Amino acid sequence: MRNLVRFDSPPIEFHDAVVSRKQDEALRQILTNIRPSVEEAFNNYSVNSLVNSLETLAPNAECYAQRNSFLELYSYGSKMISEFKNVIQNLQSLSIRYICQYCTLTQHTSFDHILPGSVFPEFVVHPWNLFPSCEHCNGKKSIAWVNGGMRQTLNLYLDILPEEQYLFVNIIPDPTAGLDFEYYLQNANHIDNNMFNLIASHYVRLDLLNRLKKESIGIFTEIITSVRANLISMSLPDALATLAISAEDFKRTRGDNYWKAVLLDTLSTNIEFSNFVSQF
Ligand SMILES: [Zn+2]
Repeated sequence: MRNLVRFDSPPIEFHDAVVSRKQDEALRQILTNIRPSVEEAFNNYSVNSLVNSLETLAPNAECYAQRNSFLELYSYGSKMISEFKNVIQNLQSLSIRYICQYCTLTQHTSFDHILPGSVFPEFVVHPWNLFPSCEHCNGKKSIAWVNGGMRQTLNLYLDILPEEQYLFVNIIPDPTAGLDFEYYLQNANHIDNNMFNLIASHYVRLDLLNRLKKESIGIFTEIITSVRANLISMSLPDALATLAISAEDFKRTRGDNYWKAVLLDTLSTNIEFSNFVSQF
């Protein structure tokens, strides 16, 4: 996972632009009348973003009363949202630009509303509240964003991801596939406890450990093929060392705990894997 760069123009201008493009005059009038409440809510969003405390924001009652009008502002396929999608993508480095950073597994094909639109309709087109996400993550997160005052998933516009390793994988012999993969989280490197708990909650909410396992099984053949190709011209220790080099490249471009980096790094020194590839 990596942090995303946020939209850098004033958020309220984007909201105003979306409202102004609406054909429905009655809708525009309702949203114009409530504009002072929206501005106040947007200011609160900015202030809370500065100290990364969005979970303490209270819904705005006046805006909530007009929630159906706000919800009409957002449609993933609309021109404004599509333009915003291009702008936010182009702010990101190419190596992560099109991949959902909640899971790092697949392309993003939707926007997650960090503060859910059903509770905070005033932020339905707040650009800092729209996070590029795959539909799988978006569906899993749903409206479960706080529990007991604690956020349940990472906000990768604001949360600073630790550099220390927290994601690990066990390599397990499997009679059918050869090897199996069990990912787990461990605070082995003394990450701040609140941050580690938030990361752990993020992984649970989005079912990431299971999803990483399935992806790993899917790419295992490719890994074996690359090691076998290297074994034509180099020793087994050297072939395994190339996996560690790939892991470092992945860490640099995709983040310190990117799952492929963790997997390749682990395989490079794993005795089960070494025995497995020695059979060929
Ligand atoms: Zn995802």
